[in-house]
Amino acid sequence: MLTSLCPECDAAVHFTSLPDLGCRVTCLNCHSMLVVINSHPIELDWAFVEPIDTSNPGDERGTILRRR
Ligand SMILES: [Zn+2]
Repeated sequence: MLTSLCPECDAAVHFTSLPDLGCRVTCLNCHSMLVVINSHPIELDWAFVEPIDTSNPGDERGTILRRR
């Protein structure tokens, strides 16, 4: 069984297959966004991600500065 502990709530997080480093998972107990930082043994850390919001193209904060 591939499991690791959620750093937030210590709940067991189960994997159906060996996750790749950087693989993101969500704790089913506390719904924390986690990232795989080690694969043997599997270690998880919080994923502090800022997902690129492509659903709001009018927001200039999300646009990449154009190179000249
Ligand atoms: Zn958790």
